[in-house]
Amino acid sequence: MPKRPTILVTNDDGIHSPGLKALAGALEEVGELSVIAPDRERSAAGHSLTLHKPLRATEIAPRWYVVDGTPTDCVTLGVMGVLKERPRLVVSGINLGANLGDDITYSGTVSAAVEGTLLGIPAVAISAVEPSEHGLATAAAFAVRLALVVLERGLPRDTLLNVNVPAREVRGVAVTRQGKRSYNELIVEKMDPRGKTYYWIGGGEPTWELLGGTDYEAVTEGKISITPLHLDLTNYAAAEALKGWETLLA
Ligand code: MN
Repeated sequence: MPKRPTILVTNDDGIHSPGLKALAGALEEVGELSVIAPDRERSAAGHSLTLHKPLRATEIAPRWYVVDGTPTDCVTLGVMGVLKERPRLVVSGINLGANLGDDITYSGTVSAAVEGTLLGIPAVAISAVEPSEHGLATAAAFAVRLALVVLERGLPRDTLLNVNVPAREVRGVAVTRQGKRSYNELIVEKMDPRGKTYYWIGGGEPTWELLGGTDYEAVTEGKISITPLHLDLTNYAAAEALKGWETLLA
């Protein structure tokens, strides 16, 4: 019997998230899992790495580790320290809620996959737009199908996949581009019981620009969106357009 592939599973909602449990439960049939996840919710942790305190990885069940750090810490510790064998795939999720458009720059779920990619391991981030039991089961079943394809075919260099599974009945799969979000009333300003002002980020209702071919458009049409993300953030057209600045600034 051929050796089963090793898969590192992580998330940003923490080790107790039902999304992590659904994902790990489903991926068991694909390979040998190691689950390494933050001890608490670290949503919107971005790609932060802990450098100024020691980190501990505690094995709470066979091959389930809890880390007092960020999603990025989990992947780094897993690959560079905890796991005896280098995983063949990193899967991050299932996030409880969408990771679309500009929001992915804040996302701990996506950042864990970014870290896998930086370490040269194919990586996938998966989010359920509607994190109900049904939504998580749908996303978990899709994660299995996608993991099998990625393990067989690999991914383009420096590229990870950001997957969003829509709320309703799934009507297909679309390879998409990043959408564009416009926040309304991003900051909510209120007064605390002692009369001092405080602010709450993300309190407003978000709206989206209606652009064709985007992740947002796909999920609103009931499709599973797969956005390939590239780690080279260079804007090549801009680099060309700004070439004249070299002499201007010399
Ligand atoms: Mn999250």
